[in-house]
Amino acid sequence: MINHKSIRYFEKIILIVSKLFKFLDSKDTLRILVYHHIEKKDFKKFYDQLKILKNKWNFITPVEFENHIYGKKKLKGKNLLLTFDDGFKSNYTVEKNILRKLNIKSIFFVPSDFIKIRSTKKSKKFINENILDNNIDNHEKKLSNMTIQNLKSLLRSGNLIGCHTKTHANLGVINEKSKLKNEILQSAKYLESSLKVKINHFAYTYGNYDSINNESLKMTFSKYKFVYSCLRGNNFFNKRKSIIKRDTIYLDSSNDLSEIFLSGLIDLRYFFQIQSINKRISK
Ligand SMILES: [Zn+2]
Repeated sequence: MINHKSIRYFEKIILIVSKLFKFLDSKDTLRILVYHHIEKKDFKKFYDQLKILKNKWNFITPVEFENHIYGKKKLKGKNLLLTFDDGFKSNYTVEKNILRKLNIKSIFFVPSDFIKIRSTKKSKKFINENILDNNIDNHEKKLSNMTIQNLKSLLRSGNLIGCHTKTHANLGVINEKSKLKNEILQSAKYLESSLKVKINHFAYTYGNYDSINNESLKMTFSKYKFVYSCLRGNNFFNKRKSIIKRDTIYLDSSNDLSEIFLSGLIDLRYFFQIQSINKRISK
């Protein structure tokens, strides 16, 4: 994986190059953003970032995304879909206070064991043991999980819920089939029975090339219609059964950096990894 700091170091140079290679800004684009926990102090930053993106991009709903991939209604131009991983309570607050104001719908990917938790203490323990590698500031007092009630409310306002494994395990290092079943299939069963909706979307934890192995690919595609990675790229020309690409966006970096990711300038880095995954899916 490319290192955040190293990207930042070359930010300025890449921006100049990207200006030279404007043609990379393909006309028909469908990119998917992924955010995680958002700290309260960053709410304003997040709002501003989305506002800037909204000037240049058309934010689509999860249903519009499904219809595009299934050929029911094709999109045009430059489209963005918003997603959140991990099921933090802040996602719920952000939806209520920011996304509704901007009229943006999103997909929220949650680990099923995390959203079952009802005490702050247990929530913190889960975060520390299972999720914390996302550079979350654990000193924040209000760090906790969304509840089933929160997810129901998100559904009511036009968002979608997706599965993000059971315990936020890295599927790339699991070889036992029973463990994979728990993470990929049992997790969705729990969400489906408590939310009374079908879960068709699944996001790999970590989402890098090594976290996506053959066994798990077979299983995820046997259950889910839409399977997401964190490998960057344009999804406009995706086939139905192909891995979905997403762009991790950092709140602490300048808007120029997001512009670079979304320009597709560094997609080439992920191109062969995506090719290899898609070949394995179609086998
Ligand atoms: Zn995650």
